[in-house]
Amino acid sequence: MDLKPESHGLWAATAPAPPETSALDREVEATVAIVGGGFTGMSAALHLAEAGISVALVEANEIGFGGSGRNAGLVNPGFWLPLPDMIKALGQDAAERMIDDLGNAPSVVYDLVAKHGIECEAVNNGNLHMAHSPGGYADLAARCEEWSKRGAPVEMFDKATAASMTGTKAYYGAMIDRRAGTIQPLAYVRGLAHAAVKNGVQVFTQSPATSIAHNGDKWTVKTPGGQLSAEKLLIATGGYGEGAEQARHSTVPYFYFQCATKPLSHNILAEILPEKQGTWDTHPVLRSFRLDAGGRLIFGSIGKLDAGGGMHKSWATRRMRSMFPQIPDDDWGEAWYGRIAMTKDHLPRLKEVGPNGIAIYGYNGRGIGPGTVFGRAIAKYFETGDASALPFPFTPGASESFVAIRGGAIEFGARAFHTIDGWL
Ligand SMILES: Cc1cc2nc3c(=O)[nH]c(=O)nc-3n(C[C@H](O)[C@H](O)[C@H](O)COP(=O)(O)OP(=O)(O)OC[C@H]3O[C@@H](n4cnc5c(N)ncnc54)[C@H](O)[C@@H]3O)c2cc1C
Repeated sequence: MDLKPESHGLWAATAPAPPETSALDREVEATVAIVGGGFTGMSAALHLAEAGISVALVEANEIGFGGSGRNAGLVNPGFWLPLPDMIKALGQDAAERMIDDLGNAPSVVYDLVAKHGIECEAVNNGNLHMAHSPGGYADLAARCEEWSKRGAPVEMFDKATAASMTGTKAYYGAMIDRRAGTIQPLAYVRGLAHAAVKNGVQVFTQSPATSIAHNGDKWTVKTPGGQLSAEKLLIATGGYGEGAEQARHSTVPYFYFQCATKPLSHNILAEILPEKQGTWDTHPVLRSFRLDAGGRLIFGSIGKLDAGGGMHKSWATRRMRSMFPQIPDDDWGEAWYGRIAMTKDHLPRLKEVGPNGIAIYGYNGRGIGPGTVFGRAIAKYFETGDASALPFPFTPGASESFVAIRGGAIEFGARAFHTIDGWL
């Protein structure tokens, strides 16, 4: 099945093909069963297989169908939360471990890309966090100081430097983090899948887990055509869970869309992001822009491109023209969107779903590094049985409350803002 243009846009148009897979149509035994074929599931599968452990993975749709095949491709270290807030929320020890792991996450991603020869337009020249206001600049300066104290290669740029680094005068300044970079996300997850299959992982697509149960000492994952039996289970369904109850997590839906121009001329590309950093900003209605390997500018913001979401794309066209007047009147090429899985404290969730059974989700729009690193950590845990290998402690407590209302309020706010701002 092809991924749809409205869901995977440019990424589906330019990613190399996934490995050949088919639906599960029999009973398969493995040591570890994985549900979900995004960054988390594929990273766990690959690292387990490299450790010589047998793995079978079921994906309800196609590899990269969820957030992993739709995102902005910014490979950033850390999470959204400023470091002091992470320490307050998680406690010193767990926070230090997460800060360290996620600070190094981009290098884990780029090392995997190099090791497995993954063709995913990988660029590791740093990313720019743009300040949309003086307050945004002050916030970035505080983040910069926190990371600097830990030796991270970060630096603040003034307005003029930010303008020359991006080709737009729309910002007050920026923080560069040189650990970061960009990838073509669908190509990356498909590359992980190729490496996993090459190392012996059995991957089944079009195979939604419809029931997940632990009987005796085994997990059984049933799909419409077959079933997996395994000692250990990872549920890695992110914000796209469907089917079995354990695969559907409680998160607040936050939709994010992106539009890509047609390839830009060399003259224009000399001015826009000349060093090919990816960017995102401090605006409450977040915006991001970056280039792909074909010289297209990809511009994104909060919003759902469904039947009622036409204002998002109109706003993006106008805003991009005002930010980048050097781009001639341009037809957009592709436009697509996806669902980000938000949690109320902006931290991920790790749940024990039964003996040797784990679910992990809730990356709050920062999942390329975290999905890769957490998948690897869970693989280590399954390999060794050592709980200290887990990336962070199991999350106590209940699910999110009022998710539909909170998700609706975010989309309503983005629609109102894009309607008004589009005409200013
Ligand atoms: C528009 C957008 C922009 C983003 N931008 C960035 C960014 O620039 N940088 C960044 O780091 N992060 C970004 N993110 C976040 C990142 O994409 C996600 O955090 C990450 O992809 C989550 O990976 P995952 O493997 O946990 O889940 P997913 O990639 O969502 O994969 C879950 C998979 O599980 C499958 N599944 C669901 N139910 C079942 C079932 N019952 N049986 C079998 N399979 C099932 C789904 O089909 C899906 O393929 C963005 C997300 C979106 C949506």
